[in-house]
Amino acid sequence: MGLSNVYGVPGVGTRGRAKLIDGKAIAAAERQAVAAGVERFVATHGRAPALATILVGDDPASAVYVSSKVKACAEVGLGSVHHHLPADVSREAVLALIDELNADSAVSGILCQLPVPDHLDGIELTNRIDPGKDVDGLTVASAGRLALGLPGLRPCTPAGVMAMLAHTGVEVAGRRAAVLGRSNLFGKPMAQMLTAADATVTLCHSRTLDLSACCREADVLIAAVGRPAMVKGSWIKPGATVIDVGINRGPSGLVGDVDFAAALPVAGAISPVPGGVGPMTIACLLRNTLRAAELAAQGSSDTSY
Ligand code: NAP
Repeated sequence: MGLSNVYGVPGVGTRGRAKLIDGKAIAAAERQAVAAGVERFVATHGRAPALATILVGDDPASAVYVSSKVKACAEVGLGSVHHHLPADVSREAVLALIDELNADSAVSGILCQLPVPDHLDGIELTNRIDPGKDVDGLTVASAGRLALGLPGLRPCTPAGVMAMLAHTGVEVAGRRAAVLGRSNLFGKPMAQMLTAADATVTLCHSRTLDLSACCREADVLIAAVGRPAMVKGSWIKPGATVIDVGINRGPSGLVGDVDFAAALPVAGAISPVPGGVGPMTIACLLRNTLRAAELAAQGSSDTSY
């Protein structure tokens, strides 16, 4: 989406009343910064950081996600090594592979693509990853470090939203924020990151009473429920920043969780779907891989138990 840049902030343009927050442009800037960091790392250490990806089975969507991550690594100069395991691989074999990658100093980050086939436990596999290589930020150790306000590798999608807010110049400290959705993957870490940034956060879910009123109080409204166009224009506080994390496939293509057309005249700034949060997730994975390599090279215990 080509956006005008009348606000003088790269990646922020206008349409209707709200500024459009262009995740593609912001992600491109993030990737450029990672590429520069990788160059510095190679100059210092004589090797590039590398991401190891594990894909179990032949789920077509997962295969596309993994291949786009591998391609993104190459574009910023990160190495990658891909392990494609058969759908009937044993639990022991996957755990042994993760142990091997944990012990391999050439591997900076490890990603086990979820979901995995039913005979495997995605949570167990994820938790086997060394927290120092947990570039998805989804192990119990990483979640605990986030909850306790300790440094660590953060989950990519909420980290991407924080980067979008920062890039757009949205002040969150002292403001009211509402996060719709309380998943471990997104909603909970998002609420914790906003809290760490001094926002006052309401975490909403399917049992929240008077959801629209909760949303209307928010200066920053972040929707991640997986329900097309659920958030109506009347739910949005005039001038609020709206970040739409939802990805819903409909007859007319991808749509978010926010009724975009209705939100435009009300919101102060809004991220579109597609072209909003989506591109930020991979950019943050690349950033985490570089960060993990830097911490390992410093012998830092920042991300270890
Ligand atoms: P999830 O695990 O299915 O969680 C959905 C959350 O939404 C739950 O907490 C659920 O509440 C809440 N919810 C569902 N219906 C609701 C309703 N009618 N009112 C209020 N809350 C409701 O989903 P997720 O993994 O967090 O993903 C959410 C959306 O974000 C999906 O569309 C997904 O594709 C998208 N996503 C995008 C990216 C990206 O890179 N852009 C990354 C991750 C996710 P309960 O807990 O009460 O059930």
